[in-house]
Formats: sequence, structure tokens, C-alpha cells
Amino acid sequence: MYDIEKVREDFPILARQIYNRPLVYLDNGATTQKPRCVVEAMVDEYYNVNANVHRGVHFLSQQATDLHEASRETVRAFLNAKSTSEILFTRGTTESINLLAFSFGETFVHEGDEILVSTMEHHSNIVPWQMLCERKGAKLRVIPMDDAGVLDMEAYKSLINEKTRIVCCAHVSNVLGTVNPVKEIVKIAHDHDVPVLIDGAQSTPHFKVDMQDIDCDFFAFSGHKIYAPTGIGVLYGKEQWLEKLPPYQGGGEMIKNVSFEKTTYNELPYKFEAGTPDYVASHALAQALDYVSALGMDNIYAHEQELTRYAMEQMGQIEGMRFFGTADHKDAVISFLVGNIHHLDMGTLLDRLGIAVRTGHHCAEPLMRRLGIEGTVRASFALYNTKAEVDALVAGIQRVAKMF
Ligand code: PLP
Repeated sequence: MYDIEKVREDFPILARQIYNRPLVYLDNGATTQKPRCVVEAMVDEYYNVNANVHRGVHFLSQQATDLHEASRETVRAFLNAKSTSEILFTRGTTESINLLAFSFGETFVHEGDEILVSTMEHHSNIVPWQMLCERKGAKLRVIPMDDAGVLDMEAYKSLINEKTRIVCCAHVSNVLGTVNPVKEIVKIAHDHDVPVLIDGAQSTPHFKVDMQDIDCDFFAFSGHKIYAPTGIGVLYGKEQWLEKLPPYQGGGEMIKNVSFEKTTYNELPYKFEAGTPDYVASHALAQALDYVSALGMDNIYAHEQELTRYAMEQMGQIEGMRFFGTADHKDAVISFLVGNIHHLDMGTLLDRLGIAVRTGHHCAEPLMRRLGIEGTVRASFALYNTKAEVDALVAGIQRVAKMF
């Protein structure tokens, strides 16, 4: 384990007061706060190194390029991918999935084909596939789940067939916290020669992920949810797949030779990275990954699991408490409603107590429909949250409940 009070000092924002109360930040599923080392890495690069990468012969350009490419290696090691050719820098999970839906879809999806997603997907793992289906005349099919928020694996097995072109599934649900059995999902898809994309936006910040162990074909995550800046993310893809896919965007960096008659494309990963990359953010992402690795992903997991268990226990004692997402294998996300109190009212009143939670449909409207509700209140934990903050949340909910 690590020293939580010392760790909190790495995050200056946690010392803020909101409405004269200590900030209790429980909106980590939306975005995490940034440790000093991440912000300082960005400031340092802008002050001392800044130059465009890859194209320059001069010293600064080469130094910036080295930092950018070293960051790719940090990401590779973090994911345990085989090669840096498999690590594409994007703006985040959303762009990673759009890239894949476009490139994969152009080559491999045709009229009458099917794409499988799950009931609990974030809109960013639904809409790009839906847009592809509309372009190509393909069909989106949905893996159902039970009331606890556990995927129906038997239904999954019966949905996958010779028309299925790709399976797209969240590693961890951003609403329910369910940790999906991704290895099993991949194994079943591979038995049918179907590739799998895992949306790792909500798993990478919380526990160790291993591309070679999961054996998925594609994996997406966002930097800002794992203590890195906004505007940087990753699409991992197995080299044999990426080699077969056409570029997503055209421009500088992604080409080998250009003439008005014909353009040839750059090698991996650059074929998918048109234009100037966010090389400052990639460097800061590497700092964030080094930061969590130094704390230890297993320690972070143990700390957050303990918090989640404690929070579920304490919150469960509140009258009228309804949880959404009670799978056995659950991560640090708690969605709830209390009695008839509207989620927006609960969120707004908790805010006045300095407690930041998220309310609404959490970009998962089809899931809300499945649950028969409009929205929930969501508390999501990070490595810096404490049991005292859970106590503050519980006291806050009780206070709001009394007002109604
Ligand atoms: N997928 C999941 C499961 C998410 O929770 C989110 C963000 O909340 C996304 C995708 C989209 O991430 P981003 O907005 O960083 O692209």
C-alpha cells in the first residue's frame, strides 16, 4: 500500500475549498485530477524543449521527438504490447474508436454484416459503429445483461455468427462498474475468427491491463482518466490488423511519398497519425503512467476496492438507497438513486457540500433505458480518495435525503 496523505500532496487541487468546505472529488470516472509531475512535465517541455517532432534536423526537434517516442515505449510497456508499432496516439478513447470504426469498417464491413456491442456501452462505443452500419448497410446487434449488470454470456455466444465482423465491449462499465470477462469474450470471438475491441477508458486507471494476456485485437483508453492531460489517448492494435487497415486521416506524418498521381503511406504507427501530434501531452501521459506504476497498479486496485466495498456497505444502510450495478466483479464506480429524489437534485445539493459527483445518463442512454431510469448519481473513486471522503458522501446523502 502507499501513504495516502503523502499521495494527496501530489495533487494540489485536492487542497481546494468549495463553498468553504474541503473539496471531495468523486467524479473521477469523468476525469481525474493531475499530479504535480504531470503538470510540471508539460511546463518544462514548453519552456525548455518545445519544437515540432519528426521533421526537424535541429537539436530541439530531435529532443522533442525522443521524448515523444520514449512516451510511446512507456505506453507499450504499460499495456504489455509486443511493439511500439502497435501504439497509436489519438486524442482519447472516442477518437480511437472512431479511427477504428472508420478504418476497419472501410475494409472489412459490408452490407448485411453484423457488429456486436454490449448493452452497457458508452455512446462513444455505440455511435461510431452505428454510423458505420448506416454507411455500409450493416446491422448493430446488442449483447444483453442481467439486472445486476452482468453480461449474458450465453446470449453473446448465440449472437456471434458468420456475419459478425467485430465485437466491441467495455472492459469496465462507466455506470455500473461491472468488470466484464474480457478474456472470455475475446476467446469466444476468436473461436469464430472475429476480432475484438476493448474500451479500456474505465479499466486502465484502476488495475493492470495486459494486451498479450487479454489477447484483444484493439484496445482504447484516454489519458485524462489516468491522471494525464486532456487531448491525448491511445489506440492499441495488433500489428497484423493495423497493417491491413487503411489510414483514417490524410496529411503530414502519415505519408511516405506524395505526388498528384499517387501517395504511399508511412509505416506503423505513423500511418495513423496525420498532422502534428500532441507531443507535449504524450510526454505528460508517460509521466502519469510512470506515476501510477511507481505507486503500483496492484496497490491502487487494492486501495480502491477497499474504498468501494466500504462505500457500498455504508451507503447501503441509507433508507431508500438503490444501487445500479451490483456485479460480483465490480470496480470503483457506484451509481445510485435514493427514494424519489431526482439525480440532478441530489448532485446539486451534494455540490453545495463540496462533494463533486456526476449525475445524468453518463453517455449511456441505451443502458438507462434497459434499467428503466433517466439517470443516476455516480460516485467514482481514484487512487487519492479516502474513507473520510466516503463518510462525507454518506453524511451528505443523508442530509439531502432528510430535506426531501
Ligand atoms: N468509454 C467509456 C467507458 C467512458 O467512460 C468514456 C468517458 O467517460 C469514454 C469511452 C469516452 O472517453 P473520452 O471522452 O475521453 O474520449
